[in-house]
Amino acid sequence: MGSDSIYCECGLEAELVGGDKVYPGRYDLAERLFYRCKPCEAWVSCHETTMLPMGSLAGRELRELRRQAHALFDPLWQRKIRRDGCSTRTARGAGYAWLSRETGIPKAKCHIGMMNADECRKVIALCESVYSKVRAAA
Ligand SMILES: [Zn+2]
Repeated sequence: MGSDSIYCECGLEAELVGGDKVYPGRYDLAERLFYRCKPCEAWVSCHETTMLPMGSLAGRELRELRRQAHALFDPLWQRKIRRDGCSTRTARGAGYAWLSRETGIPKAKCHIGMMNADECRKVIALCESVYSKVRAAA
């Protein structure tokens, strides 16, 4: 096993596959690469230039939790771009810094693509509480 091998939580080495293997029918993703553990039906996308995985391998439940967390969290930092006229990089950085402070997840590990199910649930609950405060104030 090479030092650059990517492993699934189950301990198996992930295989590099095309998008057609994990998202059949999604022709827009067919050219992309993913690290997949077939027995777990877990995968993560692969960075095109560095070939590093963009997070850890996620099975069905974790993928859904990460999707939900992104759907709630991303609009929060994206608002900052419109409001303050800052770059995507600055706004996303500020968003993740806030997320790290609020959830207690260390900044270096505080990326939704790297989170486990419990961490995703924390993010979802936190963002929902922000939305409910916004609604209550409106
Ligand atoms: Zn596995």
